[in-house]
Amino acid sequence: MTLQAFISRQVVTPDGVRPAAILVEDERIQGVVEPERTPAHAKILDFGDVAILPGLVDSHVHINEPGRTEWEGFATATRAAAAGGYTLLVDMPLNCLPATTTLGALQAKRQAAHGQCRVDWASWGGVVPGNQAEIAALAAQGVPGFKCFLIHPGIDEFTMVTEQDLVAALPHVAQTGLPLLVHAELPADIEASTAKLAEADWSRYATYLQSRPDAAELSAIHLLITLCRKYRFHLHIVHLSASEALPLLRAARSEGLAISVETCPHYLHLTAETIPDGATLCKCAPPIRGHENRERLWEGLRDRTIDFVVTDHSPCPPEMKCLEEGNFKSAWGGIASLSVALPLMYTEAVARGFSLSDIARWMAEGPANLAGCHLHKGRIAAGYDADLVIFDTQDELVVSESRLYHRHPVSPYMGQKLRGVVRATYLRGTVIFQTGSFPGHPLGREFRRYSLSRSQEAGTDVAGATTA
Ligand SMILES: [Zn+2]
Repeated sequence: MTLQAFISRQVVTPDGVRPAAILVEDERIQGVVEPERTPAHAKILDFGDVAILPGLVDSHVHINEPGRTEWEGFATATRAAAAGGYTLLVDMPLNCLPATTTLGALQAKRQAAHGQCRVDWASWGGVVPGNQAEIAALAAQGVPGFKCFLIHPGIDEFTMVTEQDLVAALPHVAQTGLPLLVHAELPADIEASTAKLAEADWSRYATYLQSRPDAAELSAIHLLITLCRKYRFHLHIVHLSASEALPLLRAARSEGLAISVETCPHYLHLTAETIPDGATLCKCAPPIRGHENRERLWEGLRDRTIDFVVTDHSPCPPEMKCLEEGNFKSAWGGIASLSVALPLMYTEAVARGFSLSDIARWMAEGPANLAGCHLHKGRIAAGYDADLVIFDTQDELVVSESRLYHRHPVSPYMGQKLRGVVRATYLRGTVIFQTGSFPGHPLGREFRRYSLSRSQEAGTDVAGATTA
């Protein structure tokens, strides 16, 4: 294969943003050098002032295949991802049928994904009541970690866990050394709040917000920290919305507990005050809270209590959003944003003084760490996969149906003007998206994480590999 040199005056490396030539051969980054030191025989792709970031990694995506391809699927989710600058997605174990809670289900998912993916992918395993025996087996088959819900997840095929179920599962999870991702809301506070809202107007966003109070997140996180202290597993809090939990999380980490935290672009961009009544496209769980809460989440990113940002891309057929009646009680909760998450985050981040390095840490390196692919993905450095996003920070994007590439192009961001446009995305050195087109056939592979058991792990890193 010929040596390629990707040149820009703004290459986002782990050491900062600088002019550089990224030398690529055999799908990998061979080196990052000053532009004038580009070897004479290299094929040059010079992007001038347009930035080059590492391919983004999203460890929180609902692909919904097999079983619910009318909602989304590998072909459409990975197409939307490629257009958004992502090069690896990790699929959540629910909404697909069967849910990824057994080895058989993981096998079915692998078959479903085969030949369809425009970006690399991996699959979380699910922890549900009674599947402890599957945990070690799923880990041995390469899942990078596990996900569970402390509250009903909106569909019946994936069962929430109680504290007792967690007590049964956690020794098995801890044994694998892999992270447990938890949807942290406890039902009690939500049931109590919802009961008081029986007569309320559910077309009002304020009603929905009241039904899912901060307290539900706080009590869940409190319980999880207690369990983390006892069972010593890697706890990962998905989609943190309640900024009130940040001091709790900060204190738990300073004790030395292995806790990581993510939030999502919608919590960092939208605010409860500006969501119109009936705007069920903005429904997600936990809910989008007020303006002050949003700013405290940004502070959580600044002081690194929040490690990274993922989309929680969770699409559904538009009719499930109950757009005509605008009822927040019956509408499906979920926001799909793979194609526009980078401009959304860039727009909000530069307004608060953050840099492209911060964006790369939040949207590439951080999620790659969680998924265990941090030796292959998430950085522009020698030895890494040549996954690159060509991102024009000087251009603007107006969100429209034609800029969304998931199956049903509905979005709460429609019509918004955002800063930054993804010009192209490269997966292992090959262009997979270029201004509106998807050249070539799907090249995405599955990433499998092969970890050693915790007792063997001492001092060594997990091994990882991508397989066809
Ligand atoms: Zn989710």
